[in-house]
Amino acid sequence: MNGNQWRIGDVKITRLIEIEMAGGLGRIIPDAKRERLLGIPWLRPHFIDEVGRMIASIHMFVIETPDRRVIVDTCVGNDKPREAPAWNLMQTKFMDDFAAAGFRTDAIDNVLCTHLHIDHVGWNTMLRDGQWVPTFPNARYLYGKTEFEHWRAAESTPDGGRENLQVMADSVLPVWEAGLVDLVATDHRICPEVRLISTPGHTPGHVSVMIESQGASAFITGDFLHHPCQFAHPQWCSNFDHHREQAVATRIDMFGKLADGPTLVLGPHFATPTAGHLKRDGEAWRFEV
Ligand SMILES: [Zn+2]
Repeated sequence: MNGNQWRIGDVKITRLIEIEMAGGLGRIIPDAKRERLLGIPWLRPHFIDEVGRMIASIHMFVIETPDRRVIVDTCVGNDKPREAPAWNLMQTKFMDDFAAAGFRTDAIDNVLCTHLHIDHVGWNTMLRDGQWVPTFPNARYLYGKTEFEHWRAAESTPDGGRENLQVMADSVLPVWEAGLVDLVATDHRICPEVRLISTPGHTPGHVSVMIESQGASAFITGDFLHHPCQFAHPQWCSNFDHHREQAVATRIDMFGKLADGPTLVLGPHFATPTAGHLKRDGEAWRFEV
């Protein structure tokens, strides 16, 4: 399988990789210069390479509880017109990997997007006979109400950006128009084992996902951080953090809550092995895998 798996009590979490490479996040966190990254010893070998380039991944998580299958984030997707050359009209074998891992698109109960950015909504839809159709026809797709309303309003304003109009049109709105979307609160509980936690800043309605079963727990961050280097430097912002002060405050708050606890922490862009535990490290934090 092109990914890895974790068991949290009665719940299984599977990671399915769309893209994993060194260098891809190079300009997303401007403060994360190579020489600074090389000064954070625990980033090697998994999260930076020997010359200090960030290694990053784009992947989907599939959460299987005893009675439900929930997808968290749907990557970039195939066939989508995108400004980044590497993502434009991309053709990967991602859905073959999805099937090879034992999953069926018609057996997914929920699709949760932590936020509505380009690399978290792609496989919401797929191209069929020239139309964008929902990839998971029997799922309820969960969009945060705040998040959806922000981006839908942004459609008509300059801050929406030309690219986001395209992302909304091909990956977000077709599912809405098909009647498969539930707009949810940022503290929504999906099922007994899976609930959302509000983590605003990166986007206005950004959420993270807490998984709890049999006394064990895991936490999917979403993009309130992009790379483990931000555990060491929570003030380092991504160019795509919508509200930078709020993003920094969310990181410091959540890192403090997770540190030195039993919860397994997973990020949508953390390279293999992707999961670890957060430890207090002086004024900041480090990630132990
Ligand atoms: Zn992302």
